[in-house]
Amino acid sequence: MDRLIAGHLRFRTETWPSARARYEDLAQKGQAPETLVVGCSDSRVDPQTVFGAGPGELFVVRNVAGLIPPYRPDAGYHGTSAALEYGVRVLKVARIVVLGHAQCGGVQAMVQGAPREARDFVKPWMEIAETVLASIPAQAQGDERLHHCEMEIVRLSLANLATFPWIADAVAAGRLMLAGFRFDIRTGILMRLQGDGFVPVA
Ligand SMILES: [Zn+2]
Repeated sequence: MDRLIAGHLRFRTETWPSARARYEDLAQKGQAPETLVVGCSDSRVDPQTVFGAGPGELFVVRNVAGLIPPYRPDAGYHGTSAALEYGVRVLKVARIVVLGHAQCGGVQAMVQGAPREARDFVKPWMEIAETVLASIPAQAQGDERLHHCEMEIVRLSLANLATFPWIADAVAAGRLMLAGFRFDIRTGILMRLQGDGFVPVA
């Protein structure tokens, strides 16, 4: 806990003086982020860091594997869908970004089996993406199987976004665009989904 408090004190002394005006402005006017990011909870893939963004710029949803479930308005507890609803219908973001990443533990749990301690929720959550397992090329081995699924999950999440009627409507009306990315933790390279494949952004 001391480490967290020390980190906050560093923020107050080093960051706050120059960021104060920005925070005060955001407090007064409210947030108006243009981008909603759906990313993984993985501690190494912070969307604000990856996109070099500051406070007020990104409306972020993080869950295991950065998955978007299909539209299913029932009595279940839909945290990710609730964040999508608020971001798209209330904040009226202009774009939704799905941020996948390499070495994803959620994908690993789906491909290789969930750890015994992660079967109450992780296993059923990852079932959202199980259809990508069928698309693994027969010749793929080891990490190739994981890489394939990490990328296909971004595609699947983008497809699931389109099942939300108010997202499909906003996209059709040109008010909202959808994009997929993949961040490689080891190299720091960000790739964007373009057509059939992922292409480095620089
Ligand atoms: Zn992950």
